[in-house]
Amino acid sequence: MEKVVSKSFRNIVENNNQLLSVGFRSPLPPQDYQLIEKLSHQNRIRIPQKFIHAKSSGAFGTLKITHDISKYTKASVLQKGEQTPMLARFSNLTSEKDAADSQREIRGFAMKFYTKEGNWDLVGSNTPVFFIKDPLKFPDLIQTKKRNSHTNIRSNTALWDFYSLTPESLHQITMLMSDRGLPKSLRHINGYGSHTYSLINAKNERFWVKFHFKTAQGIETMTNAEAVITKDRQCNRKDLYESIENGNFPKWKFQIQVMTDNRARNAAFNPFDLTKVWPYTDYPLIDVGEIELNRNPENYFSQIDKLVFCPSNLVPGISLSPDKMLLVNRSLPEVNTFDTDGSMNFSVPKKSDDHYSQPRALFHLMNEYQKYQLFNNIAESMSGVPRDIIDRQLALFEKVYPAYAAGVSKALGA
Ligand code: NDP
Repeated sequence: MEKVVSKSFRNIVENNNQLLSVGFRSPLPPQDYQLIEKLSHQNRIRIPQKFIHAKSSGAFGTLKITHDISKYTKASVLQKGEQTPMLARFSNLTSEKDAADSQREIRGFAMKFYTKEGNWDLVGSNTPVFFIKDPLKFPDLIQTKKRNSHTNIRSNTALWDFYSLTPESLHQITMLMSDRGLPKSLRHINGYGSHTYSLINAKNERFWVKFHFKTAQGIETMTNAEAVITKDRQCNRKDLYESIENGNFPKWKFQIQVMTDNRARNAAFNPFDLTKVWPYTDYPLIDVGEIELNRNPENYFSQIDKLVFCPSNLVPGISLSPDKMLLVNRSLPEVNTFDTDGSMNFSVPKKSDDHYSQPRALFHLMNEYQKYQLFNNIAESMSGVPRDIIDRQLALFEKVYPAYAAGVSKALGA
């Protein structure tokens, strides 16, 4: 059947070439609803870009469960032998939509599983921790990474001013500034659920859980210098699209860490703190299955870009935890929030907590070359930052490990 032009509500457009007008030189009458609909559709054809996670790539795939974890969860999606259609959306935390892919930045790793019991959204990133553990600081953190309202330029000073007043960010900063902070491609990153969730079994017993997705392609990264010479600004998106198009389907091993209520009560660290990991030796990884991405979207805008996730999209057998960053996703401070443009909120941490031992453990994992990269990536990122802020941050690195502070000082030429 021949296709005819229609409007949104299917009424046929008789003439798509001529305006309705009262006469050749007359103004246009407002009842030309065809014109109004066409123009208003154009105005709304794209949604404003997301404030965070605006730059994205994504693909469809399958979650396969290969191991029996029924003693931890009754979720049908997690039972051995189950195969569930899914979608993964990767994103850069604060880059604008058309920024170059090869930026040192956290990569969002969000997944939607189309389970028999409803959609399960798991919203994580390529690192197991985050900069903050208190949702009230989230808008301030993001503001430091956005353009200054006066200069319209991103400001290293704003970043390091905030970091140096936020010692709980040390763990995430050390990962971000390490080799893993600049992935070579999206196929070569791990995904972490990051937050602590819970699993509930058929007897309604609860277990705390961390979700891990380890890349089967291996971790591969770029140095800052390699990123600068990357000619293709869309290298990550292109790599993912072309790999899938060529039948080279990326895979991730799906594993969990589990903690009982009793161990959580007695753990030396807060298991619900998003700036902390659960040590692998105490909470070993348990095999669950695998995800594979094997189908590119047909319409990128409607299937990936417009996609929304919500951590409250859960299914029976998978639930939340007292992680403050998971339960509260909107802070309600009084008016005068410093929430939009301008200066972020300044506050000096009052409570004492151990912000240092896990970044220290990470630092000790690095070989000399990785440390060299860490020092130089930090020094480069501190370009233009006032001395008092640098000194405040060096004092935090010193608390992690003296050689960390010394290495950054040397790279700064201080
Ligand atoms: P282990 O010593 O048992 O293992 C170290 C892990 O660190 C590796 O398996 C790898 O995790 C990860 N890693 C290595 N280099 C980097 C890097 N540059 N950035 C981010 N992660 C890296 O670890 P522990 O559990 O005893 O913890 C020691 C430190 O390892 C932690 O303080 C934390 O900084 C880091 N780490 C721990 C994770 C955990 O969930 N326990 C997860 C990731 C990092 P992977 O196998 O996930 O690639």
